[in-house]
Amino acid sequence: MTETKTQYEFKAEIKQLLDILVHSLYTNREIFLRELISNASDALDKIRFESNRGTEIIDKELPLEIKVNFDKKKKLLFVEDTGIGMTKDEIITNIGTIAKSGSAEFINQLKENKENAGSIIGKFGVGFYSVFMVAEKVVIKTKSYKAEEPAYEWISDGSGSYEIAETDKKSRGTVIEIHLKKDAEEFAEKYRLEQIIKKHSSFISFPIFVEKERVNTIPALWREPKTNIKPEQYTEFYKFLTYDNEEPFEVIHKSVDAPIQFSSLLFIPKKNFDFFGINREDYGLDLYVRRVLIQHQNKDLLPEYLSFVKGVVDSEDLPLNISRETLQENIIFTKISQSVTNQVLSHLIKLAKDNPEKYLEFWKEHGKIFKMGYSDYQNQEKFLELLRFNSSFNEKADDVISLADYVERMKKDQKEIYYISGSSRESITIDPHLEIFKLKGLEVLYLYEPADEFVISSIMKYKDYEFKSVDQVDLKKLNKLDNVEEKKESEKLSSDDELHFSSLLSHIKDILGDKVKEVRVSERLKDSPACLVNQDNSMSASMQKIMHIMNKDSSIPQKIMEVNKDHKLIRNLLRVFKADKNDPFIGNVAEQLYESALLLEGYLTDPHKLVNRINNLLNDSSDWYTEVKKIN
Ligand code: ADP
Ligand code: MG
Repeated sequence: MTETKTQYEFKAEIKQLLDILVHSLYTNREIFLRELISNASDALDKIRFESNRGTEIIDKELPLEIKVNFDKKKKLLFVEDTGIGMTKDEIITNIGTIAKSGSAEFINQLKENKENAGSIIGKFGVGFYSVFMVAEKVVIKTKSYKAEEPAYEWISDGSGSYEIAETDKKSRGTVIEIHLKKDAEEFAEKYRLEQIIKKHSSFISFPIFVEKERVNTIPALWREPKTNIKPEQYTEFYKFLTYDNEEPFEVIHKSVDAPIQFSSLLFIPKKNFDFFGINREDYGLDLYVRRVLIQHQNKDLLPEYLSFVKGVVDSEDLPLNISRETLQENIIFTKISQSVTNQVLSHLIKLAKDNPEKYLEFWKEHGKIFKMGYSDYQNQEKFLELLRFNSSFNEKADDVISLADYVERMKKDQKEIYYISGSSRESITIDPHLEIFKLKGLEVLYLYEPADEFVISSIMKYKDYEFKSVDQVDLKKLNKLDNVEEKKESEKLSSDDELHFSSLLSHIKDILGDKVKEVRVSERLKDSPACLVNQDNSMSASMQKIMHIMNKDSSIPQKIMEVNKDHKLIRNLLRVFKADKNDPFIGNVAEQLYESALLLEGYLTDPHKLVNRINNLLNDSSDWYTEVKKIN
């Protein structure tokens, strides 16, 4: 054995983390033990996995177990496992760095959110360092499963650096030797250790001994018959699995025997876990084969849009030595994953039916990610059933309806599902395109998020009904619909005025030039004088807008301008036009109508001209106003 010790500096981010752990976290310190036991359990899972697939390992006959021992007088605590161990390089890479991305944000969260440190540390996985909340010095002794690898010792007091040297540990595995701080003596008490292990680690599948006595005795919960399990046990297991502080929102526990045997215990959390939005890889179900963990957070058992689901799947029918790399090609695995997906969707459908209010809570929390399921064609029918939208028939912006609700209320002969996009209910309800739908009492879905547009344009249809954006609807079809209220007739124009009106439209087109494709009479407007529309059957206006942004396109699309022939402003414009075709008022109004419409569509980038023109118009109207009111 060589005597050389090498000293290493911790990386800056670890120093920062240690500083918080050592100097400012005093509550909930007991979780350090949960973290060390979890690491020991991971190390045991790994050795079992290697052994099952026939890898050469040393000390093959060692029982797979975790031992917690202590020496009260010397204030020492030992956490020992017979797991995979570490080589020198592994110690340096695994213990010396924070591997996960986003560590800076993590450290900030930890600083600001000290009460939740336990759950933050657990979810993020920098668990090992939490030992420095209670330790003034830590010694790791470890021996890798690989033959010929010497054992190593890692020593640190949690300040700036650590040392590594060869050591004399004889058998495979790792011992963490903790020199407790003065104020942490409680962690060298048997009852206290047992209490912590029962609270945080009772579902660890390897035996945990405190001074030769086994502490964890709970069997794999998912393998137990449902009738034997109390709700508290589900909650306890859920918290163990997810580090969530709250109980699960829904529990789905199933056992299937044919054609393939598997058990699944799945949870829907109350809150969306997307951890600070940075820990994107933190999802997936734990895959077991005959109670042996094969893969933590497997990402293929459920499609990504169901990634809010947590839990475990355990099958008798997969081979124990299956490699993670080939799982996806395994036909049994594929069938299990289809079946698990189906379980989740069916459960949600049942929830929506039996308890719509609770489903709505689910939708508010997880709907955003769930919507991404529009590309799951295999399950599209169920997916569509679970979608929710706000609609013109709802009273509030956060009420929702299903597509089935919509279809049930459709007008006779209505063949299309109408929708409109906008950033808020306020902006949508004043959109001129909606006027004809209001007038005819037709329901319109309100889409608030750009993602909704993708959902709609990719699913295209619900049952036989096609989705149609309000600005793409064929108005002739709309007018043919039965039992819709008729538009209130305004005074008809004389045939002479009709002629003038058509030349007014061409005049407006001349004024606007290439900015518009066409100027025509509108069938859809009631309260607004004008609006812009796309040519029929092209993209919806909002989709067009999204593409514009995505392509960083700053050009203004050429649209059709529609004019409301019955609107007072337009009628007055016609009178001015009849008196003098070249009256500059006409040009001003035409430009203003166009730019106002452009503003509503979200394309007006330079408001200067518009504001200037409005000021001039206001100026004029103030003259007229004072004149009419006879104000001096
Ligand atoms: P995480 O467990 O999320 O990876 P930790 O900070 O708890 O983060 O542990 C860091 C790494 O150190 C582990 O991933 C593992 O590679 C290694 N490690 C920790 N404890 C042990 C152990 N008892 N046996 C083997 N390796 C370990
Ligand atoms: Mg860990």
